[in-house]
Amino acid sequence: MEHPERIVVIGAGQAGGWVAKTLRDEGFEGRIDLVGDESFLPYERPPLSKAVLTGEAADETTLVFDAATFESLKVEWHGGVRATSIDRETRTVELDQGEPLRYDRLVLATGSRVRRLGLPGADHPRVRYLRDLADSAAIRECLAPERRLVVVGGGWIGLEVAASARKLGLEVIVLEAGDRLCARALPPELSAFLAGQHRARGVDVRLGVAIESFRSTTPDRVQVVMAAGETLDADLVVVGIGVVPDTRLAEAAGLEVDNGVVTDAVGRTGDPFIFACGDVTSHHNPFLDRRVRLESWANAQNQAIAAARAALGLESTYEDVPWFWSDQYDLNVQMLGVPSGWREPVMRGDMSDNAFTAFYLDGDRLDAVVAVNNARDIKVARRLMERRIPVDAARLADPATKLQALLKG
Ligand SMILES: Cc1cc2nc3c(=O)[nH]c(=O)nc-3n(C[C@H](O)[C@H](O)[C@H](O)COP(=O)(O)OP(=O)(O)OC[C@H]3O[C@@H](n4cnc5c(N)ncnc54)[C@H](O)[C@@H]3O)c2cc1C
Repeated sequence: MEHPERIVVIGAGQAGGWVAKTLRDEGFEGRIDLVGDESFLPYERPPLSKAVLTGEAADETTLVFDAATFESLKVEWHGGVRATSIDRETRTVELDQGEPLRYDRLVLATGSRVRRLGLPGADHPRVRYLRDLADSAAIRECLAPERRLVVVGGGWIGLEVAASARKLGLEVIVLEAGDRLCARALPPELSAFLAGQHRARGVDVRLGVAIESFRSTTPDRVQVVMAAGETLDADLVVVGIGVVPDTRLAEAAGLEVDNGVVTDAVGRTGDPFIFACGDVTSHHNPFLDRRVRLESWANAQNQAIAAARAALGLESTYEDVPWFWSDQYDLNVQMLGVPSGWREPVMRGDMSDNAFTAFYLDGDRLDAVVAVNNARDIKVARRLMERRIPVDAARLADPATKLQALLKG
């Protein structure tokens, strides 16, 4: 295949930004077009539900690279521009404004978009979603002490918004349809732990509840009508019921899509000229030995680096153990792995201390680890998992055994 001279990246989020940076780091001197429908330079989203939402950090602190570094990459920046279609025959990307872009290699980094509620009245201006900086700013404007916030969805985003709002003195109700919090990501004992933590800080956590509709009282207030008949008045409703990969362009272009753009570990699609990375991929993970779609900061960065190298025809690997974190109040939750089911954990430390690690074993290997305020354990556990070192449950649980000692097998 000829050496690329023009590389187009669609999606200028964290993954898109890292693709551009890596292409230059690897010595690519050709043209890079970075197309992003948001007007902000590439930024990281985790603070949008945390320090940016509470006003403790400014929007600019989220930039993946500062303005000078971005400038030095010398990319053709198409900010506020949407890619509308891909023609794989002519290797051209159509935009909603400006001339079409020719590519030798194309990288899709279109990320995720929020899942929306299809309920009557859900289009009320005080029913909001949180995905980008504009959403975070709009929500922040409504967060004033003693107001009432209803959070729909007891997943990561909903719980982080709840914690930020409590910090700012709001009354908070969390409505979760399932019978536990973060059920998609966490084992039952951790769901119960988080529910206890939020309740202890004054959040009204309601599980197994259904919403029927939203009623407009005034433009500034909305009423949540529960299926059981109760109504809840709110100054603001924030909906966090998950995201879907933004595969629209890929699908229309005839690429294989299955809960994400199907790629190998380093983002190669079935088209040798097209690559994908970040939230939008359903990629092979060598550690898990199956395909996964990850919605995480670490994947957005590290798979982007691998995909950029692959797009240049360089040797590339990406076999990270999946890693995710969340901050709520003074709790730092970190997890490794994506287990297909949960077994009884081996506990190190006590939940009641708000600092503990739960190890999930498959035979004598670590399958997943969840740590609360125990980042150090995660560091060691990652090495144990990467090297697939057999572990002994009794030693794992014994606080007198240094975790590092287990690295020797
Ligand atoms: C509020 C919030 C908090 C989070 N907290 C954490 C956390 O604590 N820990 C963690 O590990 N992860 C967290 N995440 C997840 C993490 O931020 C995402 O996994 C990461 O942003 C994915 O990056 P991405 O570049 O793949 O996709 P995205 O960030 O979704 O970026 C994709 C970009 O492409 C643009 N785009 C899409 N289609 C087109 C098109 N056709 N033309 C032009 N542009 C297009 C989109 O508008 C977007 O700007 C959080 C996410 C959110 C929203």
